[in-house]
Amino acid sequence: MKEKIKFGSLCVKKEKFKGDIRPHQMPLYATSSFEFDNINQGIDIFTGKEKGLVYGRYANPNTSAVAEKIARMEMFGLKGEASALLTSSGMSAISTLMMGILNQGDKILTQGNLYGGTTEFFLKTLGRLGIETIFTDLQNLEKVDDIIKKDKKIKAIYFETPANPTLACVDMEALAKIAKKRKIKSIIDNTFPTPYLQQPFKYNVDFIIHSTTKYLNGHGNSIAGVIVGRDKELMETKVWQTLKLAGTNASPFEAWILGNGMKTLEVRMDRHCENAQAIAEYLEKNKKVKKVNYNGLVSHPDHELAKKQMKGFGGMLSFELKGGLKKGIKFMNKIKFCSLAPTLGDVDTLILHPASSSHINVAKELREKNGITDGLIRLSVGIENSQDIIADLEQAML
Ligand SMILES: *Cc1c(COP(=O)(O)O)cnc(C)c1O
Repeated sequence: MKEKIKFGSLCVKKEKFKGDIRPHQMPLYATSSFEFDNINQGIDIFTGKEKGLVYGRYANPNTSAVAEKIARMEMFGLKGEASALLTSSGMSAISTLMMGILNQGDKILTQGNLYGGTTEFFLKTLGRLGIETIFTDLQNLEKVDDIIKKDKKIKAIYFETPANPTLACVDMEALAKIAKKRKIKSIIDNTFPTPYLQQPFKYNVDFIIHSTTKYLNGHGNSIAGVIVGRDKELMETKVWQTLKLAGTNASPFEAWILGNGMKTLEVRMDRHCENAQAIAEYLEKNKKVKKVNYNGLVSHPDHELAKKQMKGFGGMLSFELKGGLKKGIKFMNKIKFCSLAPTLGDVDTLILHPASSSHINVAKELREKNGITDGLIRLSVGIENSQDIIADLEQAML
């Protein structure tokens, strides 16, 4: 075939798509930039006159398409729209949002039992930048309102429900109401429940973040996060600008994997809930178990609240073995079927002993204040046949 360009140039030039391509599944746009038709169009896009793709750090078809789908999930059945941005991790969703909406001198009000990385980021990074974090019991609504009323520097309230490791819940509706009354922003980490089981926008929470690494992807093969907000203006200005300039965007490949994983979210979550309920009930009856924390058990102190604001109780649970640290380590060493891995939300069952792993460097006193006792075991219940999970737990307790 006669070519107009040299061989070496042909090697370098991009492949040409033929005709009107309608892929059944999302193709991967592995490109760092996008072409303009002509210089004028380039100018219009750069000045914001025309919407268009420019550079992969600003936006990419894969990251935008997946983010938009998550926004639709969070808004499912609700009035209005939301904007979403896909980030390089759950932590970068948190850091991008907080840096995007807060200023030096502002303060954050939150709970003591947050995801460990979030607490560290608030204290070690935001703290150094002059943004202080105040920890309080967010279940005590009167106190929360009082603290915000008295301290005008508090500009955001940040919460997780249900939270690690005791699955303690906070009242989203009440907290969002206080935030609106006091004119501050409310932010939730909705990683554990996912938009299928819990829709914070229904209760007027301002921003939702996820570590999509967990349940949204579900297969443990990508790290990404998302920020979802109903204030389109703020999302498209300050928040997007922070993402673009801090470079916290997700890669198209991670977005592509996530898009694939999200397709089965509903069926996975239904099975996670069903299995976790069966295992929690089994554990509650077991004489070697001191205590079980699962929102689906009537014995859980937040059972009613979880029932009110969640469609199902999720796949996370924790339990305390009789016999403390020694028994906990012995139990973990006997586990065969479940995986010992420090993540959650995957299709297979993951088991963690916080006192000997994730919290080994945390002072025992501090640990126990947040419910992480020596014998506590955390389970991220998978979607296997629950009988196999129960059999593994049973043999490990012998
Ligand atoms: C894992 C996790 C994060 C952090 O997400 P990464 O994707 O690991 O950065 C934040 N919040 C919760 C609740 C998590 O489980």
